[in-house]
Amino acid sequence: MAKAKTSRKKSIVTDESLAFLKKYINNASPTGFESGGQKLWLNYIKPFVDTHITDPYGSAAGIINADSPFKVVIEAHADEISWFVNYITPDGLIYLKRNGGVDHQVAPGKRVIIHGRKGPVKAVFGWPAIHTRMGNPESKEPSPRVDNLFLDCGARSKKEVEATGIHIGAVATYEDGFEELSYGYYIGRAMDNRIGGFMIAEVARLLKENKKKLPYGLYVVNAVQEEIGLRGAEMMARRIKPNIAIITDVTHDTTTPMVNKIIEGDVACGKGPSLAYGPAVHNKLIDIVEATAAKQKIPVQMRTVSRSTGTDTDSFAYANDGCPSVLISIPLRYMHTPVEMLHKDDIENTIKLMYETLLTLSPKTNLSYF
Ligand SMILES: [Zn+2]
Repeated sequence: MAKAKTSRKKSIVTDESLAFLKKYINNASPTGFESGGQKLWLNYIKPFVDTHITDPYGSAAGIINADSPFKVVIEAHADEISWFVNYITPDGLIYLKRNGGVDHQVAPGKRVIIHGRKGPVKAVFGWPAIHTRMGNPESKEPSPRVDNLFLDCGARSKKEVEATGIHIGAVATYEDGFEELSYGYYIGRAMDNRIGGFMIAEVARLLKENKKKLPYGLYVVNAVQEEIGLRGAEMMARRIKPNIAIITDVTHDTTTPMVNKIIEGDVACGKGPSLAYGPAVHNKLIDIVEATAAKQKIPVQMRTVSRSTGTDTDSFAYANDGCPSVLISIPLRYMHTPVEMLHKDDIENTIKLMYETLLTLSPKTNLSYF
């Protein structure tokens, strides 16, 4: 019998790389405490690059052609939103501060891991039972706020809490790890932006496996501390002083309920990476990316940002004497909740778009407005 012809394209992401993605997401990497995740990432990317650098706060970069004076960056951020232990009550409950824009509305009833001095400690976000909330028909339902949310780790005194290794300043992350849903969707906490770290590493893997020679130095940057103000990227932009920067991060799928397309634009999971127009995004560079997408038949979705992109693009664009930068985002549902959801096809197409864009660039690429 003749072998059936398959029209399915070979996927870029291999079983091996998917196994890395799972491990990378299931490992917590809270803002300010990213080194564990960075070590995993460096181990994964090392075979695909010539060398690597790290900086004092934990940002890392894999480098190809380190001696080249013309430098191109592809970048993602390594950190994830989390909670800080801020106050421990005499009866052993734990109040928190936000570390990044973690969502208080989804916290009640969630399981967390508190990263204490003696290792991980399990705890839960306690919340009054529906029975006790509804007991008095006159009383209003409480809504979760940072000052009424608390963690219960089972300890019944401050002393018992501290005996587990939990301390003021310990961070807590949700337990929710990587899962696959039907129809090509993945979910997990911290897809923002571990998916970015994964995709830039995959670009490096493709360059290596396809034996591509670049006429410039490529810096594959995984920067810390994005969620609290794009700080790691700032440091790395100053350190590397790149000539061009291509940033990847997540952006909102705006097709789910209660999101206003009039304000947020029209972007959907499964329809390709999103390119943003905005002052920090270099017009000639975005033209190159868009033309590359058209040539390679990669679907893209356009959107605009007001003032700043709110991503590491801003840090690279405005660093040093100005660095032409562009943002290639992957659409994602339910950002900053523990069930961040995205589509396989978008992962493939975002990797492909970054890869093909890199192959079109050279030190002679003219990005001058004049
Ligand atoms: Zn984020």
